Amino acid sequence: MTERRRILFLDHAGVLGGGELSLLSIARAFRDEAEVILFEDGPFRRKLAEDGVAVSVLPMSGKLRTISRDGGLLNDAAAIPALLGHCLKVARLARSSSVIYANSQKSMIVGAIAGALSRRPVIWHLRDLMDVAHFSSGHIRLAVGVANAFVSRIIANSEATRDAFIASGGKAAKTLTVYNGIESDPFDSVDPSTSSLLRTELGVTESDLLVGCFSRLSDWKGQHVLLEAIRKHPGWHALLVGDAIFDADTPYKSMLETLASRYGMADRVHFLGFRDNVPELMAACDIVAHTSTAPEPFGRVIVEGMLSRKPVIATNAGGAVELIRDRQTGLLVPPNDAIALQGAISSLEQDAQLRATIASQGHDEAVSRFSSDRLVREVRAIVDSTRGGT
Ligand code: UDP
Repeated sequence: MTERRRILFLDHAGVLGGGELSLLSIARAFRDEAEVILFEDGPFRRKLAEDGVAVSVLPMSGKLRTISRDGGLLNDAAAIPALLGHCLKVARLARSSSVIYANSQKSMIVGAIAGALSRRPVIWHLRDLMDVAHFSSGHIRLAVGVANAFVSRIIANSEATRDAFIASGGKAAKTLTVYNGIESDPFDSVDPSTSSLLRTELGVTESDLLVGCFSRLSDWKGQHVLLEAIRKHPGWHALLVGDAIFDADTPYKSMLETLASRYGMADRVHFLGFRDNVPELMAACDIVAHTSTAPEPFGRVIVEGMLSRKPVIATNAGGAVELIRDRQTGLLVPPNDAIALQGAISSLEQDAQLRATIASQGHDEAVSRFSSDRLVREVRAIVDSTRGGT
């Protein structure tokens, strides 16, 4: 008889976005009792396998691949045959599990139908703000409708995420907030000599100010706002860590490069591409800036900046507001406001005491509220209470 693992994790992505990095910590903690199915191969599969998590890829076929977050329902309708085929395969795999745990919207749709076919309960870890700044209204209706009908528990990664789901018609009684958790060890164990080495390599002196932005390059992540903010300050440098991981974001990356050279600051805008040593890179920065122009569901990089003992500036919207207490554990500025961002950077540059206080209080807050142990404990309790007796 096949061993029945407790949890079948699903994620459609093969790339490493914030949601996938969060699932990585959860799956690692459950590795003796879980397996992960991805709908696409990529660095996420390799990371899971390196960490000893059972993982396999069930590639999406045909039209299913073309469903995108802002696509229309007509396009989705054409994908129905491929979707059903995929759901049947997942349902077969789910028979040896007791819970299906979907980590993304696309995988939730598949998981929900597979759950109904295999009679397994489904948990959806909701990591998106279901609003029109991020998704078409048709997609929101579809996802919320499927979740209301077929998903047992919805785990929202912030109150902002939960509120947006409920405002879109999602069932409040099924939905609870569990904040992301991030391991602090990698941030505590950075070798300080790597910071000065990195600054030297980049041509950033000790008296320069290095502002780091750690997000995929995408219009709504707002890296252009940071470039505008540092423009008139020759001693300020921007470290852009992250790449255009989705094809649709490639023009934005080119636009940022053009902007940096048009403003004559190509030597102080450092494009590092995607890196897997974020703690080392953050340690080299003076400030971590989170510049999203649309509300962020959670914003892992905000907590990572706090764990790095760096003062964090974030935009005053979505989940970020729940992570930072303004002027105590970080600074909040309005989204899409380069002048306000410039002012916040300037106030930190000029006030060493403010820098130190915010960095230290931010660190303590991150350790106490956003630990990975707390995340795993809360997820375990939900899985245990949802698990079917099948
Ligand atoms: N990140 C990374 N390498 C990069 C850029 C970002 O590992 O080059 C990580 C970053 O440290 C964070 C995650 O990607 O953990 C982004 O998560 P966030 O919630 O900030 O944004 P999302 O990608 O989910 O929208």
